Amino acid sequence: MLRALFISLSESRSLRAIAEKSAIGRRISTRFVAGTQVEDVLRATKAINQAGATVSIDNLGENVTNVEEARESAGLYHQLLDDIARLGLKANISLKLTHMGLDIDEKLARELVAGLVAKAASLKSFVRVDMEGSPYTQRTLEFVHELHRQPGNGGVVGAVIQSYMRRSERDVEELLAAGIRIRLCKGAYKEPPEIAYQKKSEVDANYVKLTRMLLKSGIYHGIATHDPSMIEAAIAFARRENIAPESFEFQMLYGIRRDLQQKLVRDGWRMRVYIPFGTEWYPYLMRRLAERPANLLFLLKNIFR
Ligand SMILES: Cc1cc2nc3c(=O)[nH]c(=O)nc-3n(C[C@H](O)[C@H](O)[C@H](O)COP(=O)(O)OP(=O)(O)OC[C@H]3O[C@@H](n4cnc5c(N)ncnc54)[C@H](O)[C@@H]3O)c2cc1C
Repeated sequence: MLRALFISLSESRSLRAIAEKSAIGRRISTRFVAGTQVEDVLRATKAINQAGATVSIDNLGENVTNVEEARESAGLYHQLLDDIARLGLKANISLKLTHMGLDIDEKLARELVAGLVAKAASLKSFVRVDMEGSPYTQRTLEFVHELHRQPGNGGVVGAVIQSYMRRSERDVEELLAAGIRIRLCKGAYKEPPEIAYQKKSEVDANYVKLTRMLLKSGIYHGIATHDPSMIEAAIAFARRENIAPESFEFQMLYGIRRDLQQKLVRDGWRMRVYIPFGTEWYPYLMRRLAERPANLLFLLKNIFR
């Protein structure tokens, strides 16, 4: 019930407007969001790199409503790619197509993302296209396939697969056939039973099945989860099949299970931390609360720190 509550709160435009403007809201969000400015996220990235993990930076925002916002967002990602290269940080970028204007002008979104992928290719970096709710699944995957086919883009742009989606096994097969890097996660949106598994046991079983397909593919993928049993299943499979630790990475969100992130690094596994930053943190934070309502306590403690 709480999950549904936080997911519906994540979609409230009026609450979002109030929260993002309030000083207290910004203060609460710092546990899971690395500040509002580029300098904040670069500082957080450096610290994570020093602790032995790589990073993917997310400039928070989704469903922009005008062309200027989309262009602004792409401009900021260009700056991030430049700063990452200039400072020698071990980091790439993650973006959402609706933040690049997919809802208002698909052609523009294509142009903006193509520009970023070209820049990433020239800097030997990488662009991950996050997966949003099911109205975007097909378009997002087609988008990534199309970009990946362009000369020079092989291995520079990757997709995200959600194990709660019933279609995911087929999508994985198609992405693997094209040599596209995948981030595997469970999925953060509310989806109906016709298209998505609802029981945790089913989502988990599919996660383990898809993890095995990814690890055996010979392509470099990201296993994105905080769930110790998913991580154990991946490690057990990698050991059994002699899959080298350098041939894939675990991924976790900034501020979540930092203990486990450090343990995996100490044990010699690759770890990438997804760091969100920016002023538009409200929907992101509500989805994290939906996953684990107990995090509300962590957040409230931030007010008094
Ligand atoms: C790097 C990364 C990128 C992602 N990108 C996307 C994306 O593009 N699209 C998308 O739909 N989703 C994305 N997600 C979110 C993902 O789909 C899940 O909603 C989220 O990761 C929670 O699932 P879980 O696998 O961690 O395990 P769950 O089944 O939710 O939880 C299992 C256990 O993990 C721990 N845990 C999980 N969440 C938390 C938390 N918030 N705080 C503390 N402990 C926690 C707890 O021990 C919990 O019992 C991403 C997640 C990561 C890590």
